[in-house]
Amino acid sequence: MHPFTITRVDDVEAAGSAVTNDAIARAVQGPDDTVFIAGGTTQLDLMRDGVWSPGTLVDISRLPLGEVEATDGLLVVGAAVTMAELARHPAVAGLDVLRDSLLLAASPQLRNMATVGGNVLQRTRCRYFRDPTVPQCNKRVPGSGCAAVEGTARTHAVLGVDAGCIAVHASDLAVALVALDARVRLHGPGGGRTVAVADLHVRADVDPARDNVLAPGELITHLEIPVPHARSGYLKVRDRASYEFALTSAAVVARLEDGVLAHVAIGLGGVGSVPWRATRAEDVLRGRRASLALFEEAAKAELEGAFMVPGTEFKPELARRTLVRQLRDVTEVTA
Ligand code: FAD
Ligand code: SF4
Repeated sequence: MHPFTITRVDDVEAAGSAVTNDAIARAVQGPDDTVFIAGGTTQLDLMRDGVWSPGTLVDISRLPLGEVEATDGLLVVGAAVTMAELARHPAVAGLDVLRDSLLLAASPQLRNMATVGGNVLQRTRCRYFRDPTVPQCNKRVPGSGCAAVEGTARTHAVLGVDAGCIAVHASDLAVALVALDARVRLHGPGGGRTVAVADLHVRADVDPARDNVLAPGELITHLEIPVPHARSGYLKVRDRASYEFALTSAAVVARLEDGVLAHVAIGLGGVGSVPWRATRAEDVLRGRRASLALFEEAAKAELEGAFMVPGTEFKPELARRTLVRQLRDVTEVTA
């Protein structure tokens, strides 16, 4: 591991300025030279593996961002709340899609360390991205090519990708958050702003080198999660029953009124370069009478035009089945 310095901050203003001051001072060394660290469960792996070697870490784990507040149909979750804390919070008990996206992720030990802010900003698990001995990776070395397109690509994405990068977004929580119309509160040197989780990440077919829209020094301070008047659920399909990333997943939030889908919102995981909001499927479903045939039509519409490479051909079909199954389970419509 390259040598680095670590700065601890205990107020939000200081956190942003620690990054920007240092980043400006070290600009000649590149934009990645100062980064935040929260639970460290992703950041330290990247540093140990030599994938990302910042000169300075700004430790934000002591910021006063560890509370969950539930008011007027809105959950406000501090970015430093751990995945385990949020999963067992009473306000999440009836929000199945959120709770299950947390409990089906990683392991109990990791969930005790990992923060929700770090979870939604985790970097891809693409094996070629995480191996600096591989020269071709447009995400790690812009303009170098993509080793995965011609390599082993079973776990990669089929939506929001092209031949330049097929990296999958790995967070389960972010998939649930897009289906919940959640937002992140950001604080940075330019002040505060709020961004929809659906707009937080950058698609690989837009810019593989950029994971998200955060400006240098910008910190996620809170998640804002509207509590829907609807049923919800999260289904995760993976190679083994625990401690594994999704091959495909579906987060569904839906409300039936007299058999008609009055509200439906869908996030898909394991298939997109970003937590995928399935707007095409939603358009097919919204306002129509729920049936298995309609669910099939919607899932087919969403996966149409998927970009496949050798190894990922199975993904659109698995994603289609995952979505149909979860629509059926959440709505309890069986015919
Ligand atoms: P850190 O490692 O501290 O930070 C991660 C990134 O986010 C860094 O780039 C950091 O700079 C940035 N960051 C952190 N907090 C903020 C903030 N508030 N504002 C701005 N930037 C910030 N995840 C899943 O969803 N599903 C899984 O099945 C799953 N399985 C896993 C299995 C293993 C073996 C491992 C190691 C991880 C797995 N994960 C999984 C990922 C895990 O959930 C994340 O590593 C964790 O949530 C990251 O949180 P952290 O607090 O440790 O972040
Ligand atoms: Fe790099 Fe993306 Fe290709 Fe993986 S899929 S090797 S992250 S460019």
